[in-house]
Amino acid sequence: MEQTFIMIKPDGVQRGLVGEIISRFEKKGFYLKGLKMMNVDRSFAQTHYADLSAKPFFPGLVEYIISGPVVAMVWEGKNVVVTGRKIIGATNPSDSSPGTIRGDYAIVMGRNVIHGSDSIESARKEIALWFPEGIA
Ligand code: ATP
Ligand code: MG
Repeated sequence: MEQTFIMIKPDGVQRGLVGEIISRFEKKGFYLKGLKMMNVDRSFAQTHYADLSAKPFFPGLVEYIISGPVVAMVWEGKNVVVTGRKIIGATNPSDSSPGTIRGDYAIVMGRNVIHGSDSIESARKEIALWFPEGIA
């Protein structure tokens, strides 16, 4: 069954949105397969976002991700990668529709609450990076 990697970013954790975010994925019908709170270091954050390393916002993005604990999760279900991205909403909260997580809870791209894998291939890589011990 298809799986995706979802991470609640430090602002989402600090603002108390963990329960709300988990609830949205659960109510949709997806299955929570892995869950842990983590503090990631700079090199780990750089690896996770390696595809964006040439972008001008990359250093700020890395600082953001290491600024506090994050919640790393694996969710499973039919079309969970694409549907998960729909639940999350557009990258820029100015463009994300009300009813999406970013549309409801974020204002700026630099504090957009949550990450979701953008393809099945990215999901596979990200699950291997964040859950090297495997999931049950
Ligand atoms: P994520 O990978 O975190 O789920 P995304 O796939 O919607 O987000 P990406 O293009 O992968 O968008 O960018 C990763 C993250 O980098 C964004 O979620 C956002 O936090 C940050 N980011 C992207 N573009 C910008 C930008 N122009 N300015 C500042 N931050 C940005
Ligand atoms: Mg992305």
